[in-house]
Amino acid sequence: MTTQASKLSEVSKLSDVSSWGRRGRVPHHVLRPSFLDDATAAVADATAALEGDGPPLLAFGLGRSYGDVCLNANGRLLVTDRLDRLQHFDASAGVVRAEAGLSLDHLLRVIVPRGWFLPVTPGTKFVTLGGAVANDVHGKNHEHAGSFGVHVRRLGLFRSTGETLTLSREENAELFAATVGGLGLTGLITWVELDLAPIKSSRLETETIDIPDLDGFFRIAEETSRAGEAWPFTVAWVDCLASGSGLGRGLFMRSRFVPEGGLAVHRDPKITVPLDAPGFLLNGLTMRAFNGLYRNRPFARGRKVQHYDPVFYPLDAIGGWNRLYGKRGFYQHQSVIPFPQARDTVKRLLETTAAAGQGSFLSVLKLMGDRASSGLLSFPRAGATLALDFPDKGEATRGLLLRLAEIVLEAGGRLYPAKDAVMTPEMFRAGYPDWQKVAALRDPRIRSDFWRRVTGEPA
Ligand SMILES: Cc1cc2nc3c(=O)[nH]c(=O)nc-3n(C[C@H](O)[C@H](O)[C@H](O)COP(=O)(O)OP(=O)(O)OC[C@H]3O[C@@H](n4cnc5c(N)ncnc54)[C@H](O)[C@@H]3O)c2cc1C
Repeated sequence: MTTQASKLSEVSKLSDVSSWGRRGRVPHHVLRPSFLDDATAAVADATAALEGDGPPLLAFGLGRSYGDVCLNANGRLLVTDRLDRLQHFDASAGVVRAEAGLSLDHLLRVIVPRGWFLPVTPGTKFVTLGGAVANDVHGKNHEHAGSFGVHVRRLGLFRSTGETLTLSREENAELFAATVGGLGLTGLITWVELDLAPIKSSRLETETIDIPDLDGFFRIAEETSRAGEAWPFTVAWVDCLASGSGLGRGLFMRSRFVPEGGLAVHRDPKITVPLDAPGFLLNGLTMRAFNGLYRNRPFARGRKVQHYDPVFYPLDAIGGWNRLYGKRGFYQHQSVIPFPQARDTVKRLLETTAAAGQGSFLSVLKLMGDRASSGLLSFPRAGATLALDFPDKGEATRGLLLRLAEIVLEAGGRLYPAKDAVMTPEMFRAGYPDWQKVAALRDPRIRSDFWRRVTGEPA
């Protein structure tokens, strides 16, 4: 082979890669093309050069997924971060089209000064457009805006068969539904066209309210929902180590953009964690102390007007914060439990976590609405979603995660693949009944560790 792709494979390095949870580093043949032509040639090369039996390929954005959806051990990883060109921006209609490796961080720098914002954003801006589509990410406004995929007009897909396709709800609709939330399995997303949300200012008014217990959360969350778009962005932090009458206590935050205050973009993070935190810091006492301090920090309650950066991306202020969980890394459990089982099930999840004494620094609870995207494997659905981080303490932590997963499954809920590391094939099939439709449309040369784990397919 003398194609550009084979030249690229020659320069591909065997490197150890980990996802955001940092639980072990696995070897990959890493390709990092600078141009889309090289990237598509590399995808085609996955079939041509390797004559069907070579290692499979997977796209990798900024690796902000916590588990193994972005990993492909011993296979090829196509890192997209250099495929980040803006292709078209209609600043009067609020429609943008860009290569899929563009990060939300960079996109915000272009659109905010012109009075536009992301229609949906996850809790970090260091994710690519391709990663946001492939996990069909959600944000604090899920109840009103649905997930990211709802706002994608069209996207480009390149498959190892050599096909270059445009996907939308009208064109190649089946493949569009398999690709939104499709965990990168249907091909390389080359570009994304997205509807933006208008803003008059880059600042938001935020109200923070004490919640004494879980009933307090549901009371205020439901009351805020009933008020429609008065407060489109909501989230609660819960102290997952509290038990008894304090179970579910925490802080409920609701926000809305204000009509004036300028259109300033965010700044780069000021602090970076230089080292892995020592394991002895990650014990019940320090977690309890952190949760207590977080809850009682001065000026936490009441109303204030803030820039979007601390409202949407508080963790981005500390570069490499995942190192705070030490060398062994950490897990995240995120599940969604449908109404009406939500309240009782979240209670069981919190009770199980508190009893295990393995709590987390930041536990997040919020409601999701019923505005579905077309994604066949999309995680969001109407109900309550709970996210809990756990430092990796070996079997005890895995055991706890499996117990939590079983509680979720019993209640008809599901786990979020972007965060997951423990889902079994049975849990996957129960949570994602449309999985076989995606399996049928999957690019045969693309594979991930997640997919192998939940389907039992060979490497
Ligand atoms: C601090 C923090 C907060 C977060 N908050 C939220 C949140 O509020 N809501 C939420 O939904 N998620 C959240 N996440 C998870 C994160 O948004 C998703 O994991 C996201 O998909 C990561 O994007 P990425 O570009 O890093 O992709 P990666 O993690 O590198 O990859 C994710 C998936 O996308 C695929 N992929 C990437 N690029 C392409 C492409 N060009 N073509 C085809 N497939 C591709 C990969 O194969 C993989 O399956 C958070 C993560 C962090 C670290």
